[in-house]
Amino acid sequence: LFSRPAAFLRGARVIGDLPPPDLPEVAFAGRSNVGKSSLINALAGQGDLARTSNTPGRTRELNFFDLDGRLRVVDMPGYGYAKAPKAEIARWTKLIFQFLRGRVELRRVYVLIDARHGVKANDEPIFKTLDEAAVSYQAVLTKVDKLKQAEVAKVVESVGKALAKHPAAHPHVILTSSQTGQGIEELRAEMAAFALA
Ligand code: GDP
Repeated sequence: LFSRPAAFLRGARVIGDLPPPDLPEVAFAGRSNVGKSSLINALAGQGDLARTSNTPGRTRELNFFDLDGRLRVVDMPGYGYAKAPKAEIARWTKLIFQFLRGRVELRRVYVLIDARHGVKANDEPIFKTLDEAAVSYQAVLTKVDKLKQAEVAKVVESVGKALAKHPAAHPHVILTSSQTGQGIEELRAEMAAFALA
C-alpha cells in the first residue's frame, strides 16, 4: 500500500466537491497544530504531501489522497483554531460534520490527540458526531517523543477513560511520533487492513 507514492487527488471546500465514494477511506482529524500534516507525511514517506498548518488554503479543505488505487486518505481541516474569521470557521465546521455523517465509504477516523495535552473540550463535538453517525474512530497520540514514558502512560490512561464513554470509539490508543517514527508502522498496518486487496 505504501510502496508507491501517494497522490493528491483533490481538495473539497464544500460538500459538493467530494470525489465519488468509490474506494474505502480513512480520515485524519484533530485540533489545529496537533501534528496531523507531519503524521500524514510520515505515513506516506513523503515530506511534502500534506501541507502543514502554516500553509494557508489547503488546510481548510478536506484533502483527498490516493494510496495505490486501494485506499483513500482524507486530511480534515484542523478544528479548535480560534483566529480565523467566524464565517470561515462555520464553513469548514459544517463541511467536516456533513462529511462525517454522510460518507458511506469511511471506514475509520483517526482522531489525533497531542500527547502533551490529552483530550480537550473541543475534541468532544467530533466524538459526539462520530458516535451519532456510528463511524468507527480511534485516538492516535502525536508527539509522544516530547514526553517521558511515565507521562505517556498517564495520558494513555486519561484518553482511554475519556473514550470509554463513547460507543463508536475503538479502545486501543495508538502512540506516534513523526519525529522518531514511533508507531508509524503500526498505523500503516491498521490502515492497510481497510484497503482493497
Ligand atoms: P497540523 O496543524 O496538525 O497539520 O500540525 P503540523 O504537522 O503542522 O505540526 C505542528 C507543529 O508540531 C510543527 O511545529 C511540527 O514540527 C510539530 N510536530 C509535529 N509532529 C511532531 C512530532 O511527532 N514530534 C515533535 N516533537 N513535534 C512535532
